Amino acid sequence: MLKTIADLHTHTVFSDGRLSPQEVLRIAADKGYRVGLADHCGPGNFQLDSRDRFEKYLSAIQDLPVYRAVELDLGREIPISPEELKRCHYLIGGVHSVGTADFFDPRITEIDLPLLLDEMLEIIGLQSQKYSFDILAHPGLLPCNFREQKDAITGGWRMKLVELALKCNLAIELSSRWLVPDLKLASMAKEAGLKFSLGSDGHDADKMCRLDYSLELAGKLELADRDLFWPLNGAIPWQTNPGSGHPSP
Ligand SMILES: [Zn+2]
Ligand SMILES: [Zn+2]
Repeated sequence: MLKTIADLHTHTVFSDGRLSPQEVLRIAADKGYRVGLADHCGPGNFQLDSRDRFEKYLSAIQDLPVYRAVELDLGREIPISPEELKRCHYLIGGVHSVGTADFFDPRITEIDLPLLLDEMLEIIGLQSQKYSFDILAHPGLLPCNFREQKDAITGGWRMKLVELALKCNLAIELSSRWLVPDLKLASMAKEAGLKFSLGSDGHDADKMCRLDYSLELAGKLELADRDLFWPLNGAIPWQTNPGSGHPSP
């Protein structure tokens, strides 16, 4: 049973979200959740694509009672150096493309899915070495025309992903927006001792901090606060009394 709930995956107007950081914070506070802002970071002007924009984002949110993060666009070149990214409280990594296959492009109707799934693992491994991000976003999310092909995710692939997450020290996100991972993958991750995080991947008022699927899976897996990844080892950066925010194990 979770005592403390944190939505660690939200987007604001600083990338492709519709809400200001303050509006995201208000929605989270109304639900009694902690919240992490994790705007997209990668090439393309829908995301934080320059040091200047990264700087503006950080300074706009630094005094708010939120965790500061970004969601790295793992399949592409990241415009911010690993050193600069350390100014975040934690980092999310998400695969949104493999080579020329953009997961949100409806024109992509033919793809070698097993190959793409293996390449996805390779990208996660390589980018983790470079950026040592903390949370793997939406594990198992496929290109938009292939999302229903759930059979593509095999037992062998799930095992490889869990092994990779163990090796790279990645928490597995339970994504309410994309309804991934499935229970099989999540159970395997729990068995292996991996940590989890909850993410709405909210971009607007409708989906912001909606954690239905994440909490449903957390319930099925009987997760407790100690099974979750906590930024800064549980310290709450916006409280002056250090350590007071540590979720009880
Ligand atoms: Zn994502
Ligand atoms: Zn996202």
